[in-house]
Amino acid sequence: MPKIAVFPGSFDPITIGHVDLVERALPLFDKIIVAVGVNNQKHTLYSLEKRLHWLEEVFHSDPRVEVGYFNGLTAHYAHSIGAGYLLRGLRNASDFDYEKTISQLNHIVGEGLETIFLISQPAYSHISSTIVREIIKGGGNAEPFLPPEVFRSMNGK
Ligand code: ADP
Repeated sequence: MPKIAVFPGSFDPITIGHVDLVERALPLFDKIIVAVGVNNQKHTLYSLEKRLHWLEEVFHSDPRVEVGYFNGLTAHYAHSIGAGYLLRGLRNASDFDYEKTISQLNHIVGEGLETIFLISQPAYSHISSTIVREIIKGGGNAEPFLPPEVFRSMNGK
């Protein structure tokens, strides 16, 4: 059975922290599906289409990484595509507190679905999509936090 992991998130927008996590997780899995969880209650800065387009651009050269999206429960999505693992990143203690509960729930709802956590590298642990959105909304330069193709696309280059 191929080892398939879903890396779920909002990716609003994808940052170099997300990319680093996927690259470091690749040796652990046969395939990683980077999937946007569509949450109608959550207002996003960028449309689903834009977020998916950027994910496709960033990962297009690696056939082991696919891009997708889902409505509803992450565990149901993972089951529907034959993934036995979720991938998540931990930057700090508050990530841990939040992720611990979610992973325990997903283990039950997903009937054995395991969440694999990677601790972020020190160079990326301060980076979040939230911070990047704030910088962009405030007119600052988000280039240091974004994959180059995403920065170029945001700036019409
Ligand atoms: P969500 O809305 O589900 O938190 P995000 O797109 O913000 O979605 O994050 C998706 C996943 O990526 C989470 O597990 C988060 O901890 C991880 N992540 C985000 N930024 C980083 C980073 N800089 N280093 C490592 N992991 C990260």
